[in-house]
Amino acid sequence: MEAEVRPNVKEMERAERFPLAEIKKLGEMGCCGMLTPEEWGGPGLDTISYVLMLEEVARVHCPTSTALGVTNSAVQVPLLQFGNDAQKQKYLRRLATGEILGSFCLTEAQAGSDAAGIQATAKRDGNLYRLNGSKTWVTNGSAAGVLIVFAKTDAAAGGKGMSAFLVEPSFKGFRVGRHEDKMGQRTSPSVEIVLNDCEVRVENRLGAEGEGLKIALSALDGGRIGIAAQAVGLAQGALEESVKYAKSRKAFGKSIGEFQAIQWMLADMQTEIEAARGLVHYAAWRKDSGQRLGAASSQAKLYASEMVNRVVAKAVQIHGSVGYSRETDVERMYRDARVITIYEGTSEVQRMIIARELLGEGVKSSAARG
Ligand SMILES: Cc1cc2nc3c(=O)[nH]c(=O)nc-3n(C[C@H](O)[C@H](O)[C@H](O)COP(=O)(O)OP(=O)(O)OC[C@H]3O[C@@H](n4cnc5c(N)ncnc54)[C@H](O)[C@@H]3O)c2cc1C
Repeated sequence: MEAEVRPNVKEMERAERFPLAEIKKLGEMGCCGMLTPEEWGGPGLDTISYVLMLEEVARVHCPTSTALGVTNSAVQVPLLQFGNDAQKQKYLRRLATGEILGSFCLTEAQAGSDAAGIQATAKRDGNLYRLNGSKTWVTNGSAAGVLIVFAKTDAAAGGKGMSAFLVEPSFKGFRVGRHEDKMGQRTSPSVEIVLNDCEVRVENRLGAEGEGLKIALSALDGGRIGIAAQAVGLAQGALEESVKYAKSRKAFGKSIGEFQAIQWMLADMQTEIEAARGLVHYAAWRKDSGQRLGAASSQAKLYASEMVNRVVAKAVQIHGSVGYSRETDVERMYRDARVITIYEGTSEVQRMIIARELLGEGVKSSAARG
């Protein structure tokens, strides 16, 4: 990241260029399929290794870690868990090496947290399904070689009527729609995917009919740890920039790092980062040791995503007016961090999951995304 990506960050951000070349290089190092076993072309590493990788990537360039998070955990993990050998043969190997990127298409304009409320449909027609509807905010959507698309095979069955499909951009009836004009992470494309009688062969259904919600929720459960790791990495990057600036900027004849006000901000930033890192590594360890993940991934995601927003705000404050300039990394970090409390389950949804575990199943929450 230091040698190959940091030197390009300013240019990428100015041109709003998706870092495909950089991701390919990360792919050569195994970063595009960290959790995929060697027999399917990945390095077959554990969740701890995966979160350490995402922390390091996000420390330098958060949008690159977003692309990696989606293709690793939202696409390859469900493919590994629910795909058959033919599907793994066809897609997993190419995803794991970074030859192609994956996308995860659940959200629609009228259904985000309420995942079971999606309206896209998939109607069986002989050897095909015909998919209709449109998906929004699809990360990597304009650069993906395969997309997991969720649609209702039985609209009357609610969440139980949802199924998952492996869709390629070349399939008839598939189209990339509008690109979101975002506050931050502007080099990570978030696009609309339009499905107009999109033809998907039956062999490209992922899992059984009706298993879609289960597949989506299990992907999001693991994905949360990755997003929490991204938050830790981004916050670490902002802290490092702030320490450097506190040592170099002079005011009233001293470096600003000599003022207690600045020292306290730096101390709080580091302490909160380490607390979040502890939660992230604990959740990863639970996953690797085969324990029930429970609310651990939600706690990590909730705390780390709220923490990074506090940290980047302090980083901008420490930089003064320079922190408000597009010339600095902390200005970008401030914008990039904002979405982290929103995607892969909002902070409110994470709190619901945590409370549900405390209070038991008797207290149901309405958000299916959890
Ligand atoms: C940059 C970016 C990238 C994304 N990438 C992807 C992607 O690759 N694939 C994908 O499928 N989606 C993606 N998303 C979508 C994202 O996951 C959703 O935006 C998110 O789940 C929230 O859904 P929503 O935006 O519809 O908000 P809503 O669900 O409409 O929520 C609005 C507000 O209401 C709150 N709320 C909702 N329900 C409840 C409740 N029951 N109780 C209390 N509060 C509630 C929420 O917490 C939030 O504050 C992305 C979004 C962004 C911004």
